[in-house]
Amino acid sequence: MDRSTGFRGYLPVASAGYHKCVTEPSVPAENSLPIVADTRPPAVVETALPVAETAAPHGETALPVLCGRNRRELETWLVGLKEPAYRGRQIAAWIYQRGARAFAEMTDLPAALRARLRESAVLGRAEVEARQRAVDGTVKLLLRFVDGRAVETVLLPYEDRTSVCISSQVGCPVGCVFCATAMLGFARNLTAGEMVDQVLAARSHAPGERVSHVVVMGMGEPLLNYDPLVTALRLLHEEVGLSYRHLTVSTAGHVPGMRRLAHEGLPVTLAVSLHAPNDALRERLIPMARKWNLEVVMDAAEEYSVQTGRRVTLEYLVLGGVNDGQDQAKELAKLARGSFHHVNLIPWNPATTLEHFRSPRPERLKKFREALEERGVTVTQRVERGQEIDAACGQLALVAAHGEERLVRIA
Ligand code: SAH
Ligand code: SF4
Repeated sequence: MDRSTGFRGYLPVASAGYHKCVTEPSVPAENSLPIVADTRPPAVVETALPVAETAAPHGETALPVLCGRNRRELETWLVGLKEPAYRGRQIAAWIYQRGARAFAEMTDLPAALRARLRESAVLGRAEVEARQRAVDGTVKLLLRFVDGRAVETVLLPYEDRTSVCISSQVGCPVGCVFCATAMLGFARNLTAGEMVDQVLAARSHAPGERVSHVVVMGMGEPLLNYDPLVTALRLLHEEVGLSYRHLTVSTAGHVPGMRRLAHEGLPVTLAVSLHAPNDALRERLIPMARKWNLEVVMDAAEEYSVQTGRRVTLEYLVLGGVNDGQDQAKELAKLARGSFHHVNLIPWNPATTLEHFRSPRPERLKKFREALEERGVTVTQRVERGQEIDAACGQLALVAAHGEERLVRIA
C-alpha cells in the first residue's frame, strides 16, 4: 500500500458506471421512452436519521475519533490529557493542512505523545480502496470506512479551480428513479469527519492541485444528515481553509433543511434538484416531491437566496424524451425566471443499471437550452469530464457491494 495516500490499487477501468458530478457526452437515443412506473415504496423523508458521529461508524472502538474535531475541541481534549493546548493545534494542522493518515507522521510531536495518542484515540481516516484516473485529470476514489461501508469521492480539476464532489450518506433513502445511488438503498449517515476525510483524500491524490471547491453532490441527501453536514462545512472553512462561497450543497428539495440552512449564517451555495417543470412529472422522478411540491421548494429557494445573498442553482437533469421537450422548457422558464436563481442543465449520465433512461439527443438539448435563454433564464450546462472513467457514484459502490449483503433500504 502507498503509505502517503493509503491507496491500495487501481480498480479496472472496465468496471463502468457513471458519476453524477461528471457529465459524459450525450448519446443519440430514441427519445420516446416512457418513465418506468416507480414501484419503489415511498421513502421516509421526515425521519431525523440517527447521527453517527459518536455511534457506529468506527466499528468496535470506543476511542475518540479526531478527524472531524476542530482545533478548539482538540485543544480541550489535549488539555484533558494534561498536555499543552498547542499540541491540539499541531494535531489539527497535521490532519487538515498536511493530510496525515497516522499519528506516526506527526513528527513534531514527542514520540511519547504519539504513542499515547495511538492508545487513546483514532485518527479516523478511511482507506482509499480504489482509484480511477481519466486523461483529463478527473480522479475517482472509493473510500472504505472502518465499519466496512464505502462511498465515492471525485476530484475534478478545471482550468480555474479544482473541485471535489463528496458523499454525505452511504447510499440514499430518497429513492429517485434515475439515480444509481438510490439502488444501493440506505445504510447510514456519514459523520462530519468522514465528509471532510473525502476532501483530504482527494487532495492527497492530486499532487500539485490546490482543492478550492467542494460540492456535496455525491451519494446521499445531505439535508437528511443536517448537523454533521453543517459541522463538515464549518471544518472545511475553518480548518481546511476553503471559502464558504466555494462550498455547494445539493438537495433533492428537502424544504425544512433548505429553510434551516438559510438561517445558519453560512454563505454556502445551494443547489436544488428540480429535474421537472411540474409536480406530476417531478413526483414520478423524485419520491420526496410528493411531500414538498414545486411551489414550496421554489419558495424555500427564494428564502435561501434572500437570506444569504447567494443565487440558488436549479439543477435540471435532462432525461432524453422524459423532460427535454419544448413545452417543458417553456414551463421551466416560467418557474425559473427571476434573479434568485439560475438553471444548470445536467445531461443524464448513462448508468448501466438504469437502462430505461437515455441521455438527451444533442439537438434536443440545444433547443431546450435556447428556449430557456430566449425567455430570459440564465442557463449553464455541466461540462463533460472524465469520460473514460465512467464508473462511479453509486455505480462504483454498487460494483464494490457486489457479493456483499445489500444495504438496507429504509422506506
Ligand atoms: N441528493 C442530492 C445530492 C446528491 S445527487 C440531490 O439529489 O440533489 C447530486 C445530483 O446528481 C442531483 O442533481 C442528481 O439528480 C444528479 N444525478 C443523479 N443521477 C445522475 C445521473 N445518472 N447523471 C447525472 N446526474 C445525476
Ligand atoms: Fe438520493 Fe440525490 Fe440520488 Fe435522489 S438523486 S436518490 S436524493 S442521491
